[in-house]
Amino acid sequence: MIEPTIKLRIEPEIKPGIEPEIEQILEQVLLGKDISVAAGVSLLQAKSERDREAIRQTADTLRLRQVGDTVSYVLNRNINYTNICEQHCSFCAFRRDADQAGAYWVDWSGILEKATEAAALGATEVCMQGGLNPEAKINGTSLAYYCKLVETIKAASPDLHVHAFSPQEIQFIAREDHLSLEQVLKALQTAGVDSLPGTAAEVLDDSVRKILCPEKTTAAEWLEIVGLAHKVGLPTTSTMLSGHIETIEQQMLHLDLLRQLQMRSHAAGYRGITEFILLPFVGQEAPKPLRRRVGRDQPVLADALLLTAVARIFLGNWIVNHQPSWVKLGLDGATEALRWGCNDIGGILMEEHITSMAGAVGGTCQSEADLVGAIASLNRPARQRDTLYGTISAKTSIPHSRHSHRHTATASPHPLA
Ligand code: SF4
Repeated sequence: MIEPTIKLRIEPEIKPGIEPEIEQILEQVLLGKDISVAAGVSLLQAKSERDREAIRQTADTLRLRQVGDTVSYVLNRNINYTNICEQHCSFCAFRRDADQAGAYWVDWSGILEKATEAAALGATEVCMQGGLNPEAKINGTSLAYYCKLVETIKAASPDLHVHAFSPQEIQFIAREDHLSLEQVLKALQTAGVDSLPGTAAEVLDDSVRKILCPEKTTAAEWLEIVGLAHKVGLPTTSTMLSGHIETIEQQMLHLDLLRQLQMRSHAAGYRGITEFILLPFVGQEAPKPLRRRVGRDQPVLADALLLTAVARIFLGNWIVNHQPSWVKLGLDGATEALRWGCNDIGGILMEEHITSMAGAVGGTCQSEADLVGAIASLNRPARQRDTLYGTISAKTSIPHSRHSHRHTATASPHPLA
């Protein structure tokens, strides 16, 4: 139901001068209609300040209508358990060969220590992703290794929500162990995985993927794995890596594939996708060929904000929670994105390595106080949430000084010992 206090219009002072086509699209949006890919492209082509402001206001109005004024955040810990990876994505500054300087695996005691510390500090979630390491096996199976990662987190605290393993990692395990994707997903769920990050999506267009990540899943495979996760009862997030070599048409087709997937999952009665996160490309430490091709090191904030607004407009009826990435945009950029359709500011992370190694300005962690302060700067209420956007009843604050900023990864010749 639409609350009567919510203004379903573009502010009259900016209305004169808006391109008629954009005005018409935004009017449809404010009537609650889904827009087409072509309409989304038109919005992304908006050049004038007035057009962009009208798009921002519309996205902000939709956000208010769809999820209210409160901005949520989550207390979580990131664990990137290894950076040894068999693949060679052209944007990746994180991966290492096993014998390369800086290669690491976090050993079992390290995983347990990180999870125990996270639980003690009041985190409700551990987010775990890493490189694709063919040597990461127990008794010759990858699945056993990945299950043990999850079981180690749950041993530290059974209450920690395990948000783990991208669709790419699921495919890797299935391939290494000659299992079906569904077998892998069910086994990980039994081990304790509660939801999957919708990462490795990059841009769901195979011509882009051929350049960005030729060894990764195809777009269709990514969609299949996420759909299967929903089917077995594992909700996922969704992402897009934007601002590199892709066109705005490809951006919109990506959003359309996410929207269609969510429609299918909802029609089947699954929880489906819980949120959309835009991940603007950071190229500072990325391998040179792509960096040269893109021609800049940090995201263009104005482009990221416009895309943030269009994502709300295009997806909001189906995916209501939208999160900017403070890791990519910095906290100020992420705070601004809360005015462009976002209703969540993400997690404190405690340690982030994948994007920070790419040269991102956002750092590796945020304090709860900083996230709440950023939200308060917009005069909007803050709410701690759990991974699936439920409310946390017993709240524990994490003092900034107790954060672990260190990269506690243990570089060990045989970390499974
Ligand atoms: S993005 Fe992931 S899969 Fe690609 S090279 Fe980096 S760690 Fe490996």
